[in-house]
Amino acid sequence: MQPARVYIGIGSNLDDPTHQVRRAFEALTGILASGCVARSPLYRTAPVGAPPGQPDYINAVAALDTGLTPAQLLMVLQALELAQGRTRTARWGARTLDLDLLLYDQLTSDDPWLTLPHPRLHQRAFVLYPLYDIAPDLNIPGRGRLSELLANCPPQPITRLDSAN
Ligand code: ATP
Ligand code: CA
Ligand code: CA
Repeated sequence: MQPARVYIGIGSNLDDPTHQVRRAFEALTGILASGCVARSPLYRTAPVGAPPGQPDYINAVAALDTGLTPAQLLMVLQALELAQGRTRTARWGARTLDLDLLLYDQLTSDDPWLTLPHPRLHQRAFVLYPLYDIAPDLNIPGRGRLSELLANCPPQPITRLDSAN
């Protein structure tokens, strides 16, 4: 079977977020039956729609080719979050690591446990910018061309970090 091309949104705003994101890139590279094909630059973003008083986030996106099914991959991502100290408290609360499955090929799913594409990706500058860096020609099923989503994204505070990954 052909591997699937998947995109994973990475976010952290606790316990040295830049280190957490770099560690996540390494962990994603090590997933069984998968290979990391691209890493976006890192971005610093103000929390959006989150409980007030949270520190800024560091965000990035990774592209992987994987032989795992969507459900297997989500379980692996959740295990990686736990391995990096993720605890679940308030919705959208501060966290050491958040790994969202943004896209799995062109698959669509409305299962609340695993919705594809990720249901809020098209509204989020912190997803659209790094995704565009590594896959500018992407089409998001049900949402349209990534370039158009980026052009129409509401302004949000976001800074691309200079340092290499
Ligand atoms: P948001 O989904 O708005 O980015 P969040 O990442 O903070 O918020 P979590 O608490 O990490 O939300 O996840 C809540 C639930 O979302 C998880 O239990 C998971 O089953 C579900 N979920 C649905 N679709 C996806 C997806 N595409 N990627 C990751 N989790 C998903
Ligand atoms: Ca998220
Ligand atoms: Ca998540």
